[in-house]
Amino acid sequence: MNTHASVVVIGGGVMGTSIAYHLAAAGVRDVLLLERDELGAGSTSKAAGGVRAQFSDELNIQLGARSLEAFGRFGEEIGHDIGLHRVGYLFLLSTPQEVAHFETSVRRQNALGVPSRLIDPAEAQRLSPLIRTDGLLAAAYSPDDGHCTPEAVVHGYAAAARQCGARILRHTAVTGIERQGDAITAVRTTLGPISTDTVICAAGAWSRAVGAMAGVDLPVEPLRRQIAVTEPVPALPPDLPMTIDFTSSLYFHREGPGLLVGMSDPDERPGFATDTHDRWIPRLAAALEHRAPTLLDLRRTGGWAGLYEVTPDHNALIGEASSVSRFLYATGFSGHGFLQGPAVGEVVRDLYLGRVPFVDVTPLSADRFADDAPRPEVNRV
Ligand SMILES: Cc1cc2nc3c(=O)[nH]c(=O)nc-3n(C[C@H](O)[C@H](O)[C@H](O)COP(=O)(O)OP(=O)(O)OC[C@H]3O[C@@H](n4cnc5c(N)ncnc54)[C@H](O)[C@@H]3O)c2cc1C
Repeated sequence: MNTHASVVVIGGGVMGTSIAYHLAAAGVRDVLLLERDELGAGSTSKAAGGVRAQFSDELNIQLGARSLEAFGRFGEEIGHDIGLHRVGYLFLLSTPQEVAHFETSVRRQNALGVPSRLIDPAEAQRLSPLIRTDGLLAAAYSPDDGHCTPEAVVHGYAAAARQCGARILRHTAVTGIERQGDAITAVRTTLGPISTDTVICAAGAWSRAVGAMAGVDLPVEPLRRQIAVTEPVPALPPDLPMTIDFTSSLYFHREGPGLLVGMSDPDERPGFATDTHDRWIPRLAAALEHRAPTLLDLRRTGGWAGLYEVTPDHNALIGEASSVSRFLYATGFSGHGFLQGPAVGEVVRDLYLGRVPFVDVTPLSADRFADDAPRPEVNRV
C-alpha cells in the first residue's frame, strides 16, 4: 500500500465522495478517501433524498441552488443515474408566524434566483392531493426542488473520483491524527499509518471524535431520525411534491409505488443508536390524522433509522481549523447535508487549493460558537 497521500479525506458519505471527486477532478494528485464501513453506510444512505434551495439562510439557499444545478447535470457530468425527480418542495403553513417567516425566506430566495412562491391552500391541495387543508393558511412551493437517490450519488462520485485518480479504501478506520506542533504529519489507520500534511473531516455524526484526534472542537451531536415506507398507494400522482407540514414536521414523498414518510421526534435524545422503535408512531399517527388522514389506512412495509449530525444552531460547519494547519472540515449539516453535497465538494476543493469559492462560507466556521456568532437555519425538518 502507498503509505503517503497529499490529502486524506475521512468519511465516505456524500460529503467525502463529493470532496474526493472535486479535488481529483481539479488535478490534485494522491487524494485518499478512508471509510471505515461501506461507502454511504453512515447517514447518507438513510436520508430521505430531499433536495431543495428553500432555506432561510442565504448561504444555504446558495449551496442548495448550486447543488440542484449539479444534481440536474449529474448524469452528463458524472455518468450516473441518480433518480432525480424535480417535483418541488411544498411547505404547508398553519400559523401567521410561519407565513410571515416564509414570506421573508421566499423574498430572500427570489433575490438569489430561486423560483419559490407562496400559494394558497387550494393550490397546495391541487399539487399534493393527499393533504387536508383544515387550518392551513398558505404554503411555500418551489418547482425546482425535489428528491433523488442518495446511494446513487455516493457511488457516482466515488466512481468518478477513482477515474480521476483518487484512491478509496473501505473498511479502513482512522484511529488517530499525528501532529508536530500545529502541523499534521500523518493519520493512523487500522491498516497502519499514512503520512500526509492535510486532513479533511467529512465524518458526519462521528466528526466530533475525528476533530478531537487533531485537537479541533467540532460541536456535532448524533440524533436518531426514523423513516417509514408504505405499501403502494392507488392513483398516486407521479409528480407529487415533497410535502412538509411545517408545524408538526411530518413529511412525505413518493417512493416507488408507495410513500416515504418521516417526522422529527422531540423525545429523542442525542446518541449513536440506529435501531428502529415504534415510540414515534403515536405522534406520527396524530399528525397524519390532522393533515393527511387517508395515509393512516396504508400498511407500513418498511423503514429505517439514521443519524442527523446536529450543531448548536442547526447549520453546517465548513472551513479550515484556525489552531491546526491544514485540517479542513465539512460536517454538522443538521439534516440537510445530502442536498448540499455537490456544492460543498466544490467549496472544500477551493478552500484546499486557496481559491475563492463561489460563496463565502466564513460564517459557517466552527469558530463561530466561541465568537458567539451563531448562524441559525430555521427552514428545517
Ligand atoms: C432519516 C434521515 C433523513 C434525512 N433526509 C435528508 C434529506 O431529505 N435531505 C438532506 O439533504 N439530508 C437529509 N438527511 C441528512 C443527511 O443524511 C446528512 O446530512 C448527510 O448524509 C451527511 O453526509 P456526510 O457525508 O457528511 O455524512 P455520512 O454519510 O454519515 O458519512 C460519514 C462517514 O464517515 C465515516 N466515518 C466516521 N468516522 C470515521 C473514521 N474514524 N474513519 C473512517 N471513516 C469514518 C462513517 O462510517 C460514515 O460513512 C437525513 C438524515 C436522516 C438520518
